[in-house]
Amino acid sequence: MRILRTVPGLRTALKPARRADRTIALVPTMGALHDGHLSLIRAARARADEVVVSLFVNPAQFNDPEDLAKYPRDEERDAQLAEQAGADILFAPPPEIVYPPGFGTEVRVGGPLTETLEGEHRGPEHFHGVTTVVTKLLNMVQPHTAFFGQKDAQQALVIRKLVRDLDMDVQIEIAPTVREPDGLALSSRNAYLPAEERKVAPALFEGLQRGAEVLAGGGDPAEARRAMFPSDPRLDVAYAEPVDPDSLEPLTAALAPGGSARLLVAARLGRTRLIDNMGVTR
Ligand code: AMP
Repeated sequence: MRILRTVPGLRTALKPARRADRTIALVPTMGALHDGHLSLIRAARARADEVVVSLFVNPAQFNDPEDLAKYPRDEERDAQLAEQAGADILFAPPPEIVYPPGFGTEVRVGGPLTETLEGEHRGPEHFHGVTTVVTKLLNMVQPHTAFFGQKDAQQALVIRKLVRDLDMDVQIEIAPTVREPDGLALSSRNAYLPAEERKVAPALFEGLQRGAEVLAGGGDPAEARRAMFPSDPRLDVAYAEPVDPDSLEPLTAALAPGGSARLLVAARLGRTRLIDNMGVTR
């Protein structure tokens, strides 16, 4: 696996593959790799001839400077894991390569998709930061396919809309959420949880399961919403919503047979912010 840090270096490395019509996949990450990331890299490996993993902690998508400052970074470990999972290239540019002096362009997906839920609680700037960096990474790598995780369900929808709205020539693949045996969704931020909080954290997943059961049984959205709330007071819930799986608008009625929804939840546990979601079809 090669580690590259500049855009010309990356383009030169990818030229032979492009000339030979070999397929290229991109897996964007912010590092602190875990099995969730590795499942995306393996899926990319199974799909494409050339697998690029990007590692960039994107300052533009952090609304909380403390969160950015303490975000876990260990490039050596990440490089080893990415290589074992099948990456050919680790693209790890420093911030001044991605945002050089004079950088002044932002890519925004407008509308409710970036304004509700995470957009309401972290601010739509969070998603503007994501779509700007993802656009740049897609332009740098020009992959045939890019892989994202269902763990960040709203982000996945925003990226699909970005690609659709801007006619980007890339296939977006969304891979299932990888969880701990007790249901907690893998996240780089789980490393912050002290043992006591780690014990409480699966309550988010359990709430999702209860909410999904209500909707699968034909229950109404208000009942599903109540069922989603974790009972442990240490989980400070920002939102817990059964929503339309495409528009993310709140569900207004029970699911008809064959109908689908997605349940999304965000909560603070001590100093750590956790998000999770689950799809349900009646
Ligand atoms: P991040 O490094 O947190 O920006 O995540 C990089 C990619 O990995 C994103 O597409 C995430 O949705 C995805 N991801 C993060 N956690 C998981 C997980 N537990 N299961 C599957 N994908 C994940």
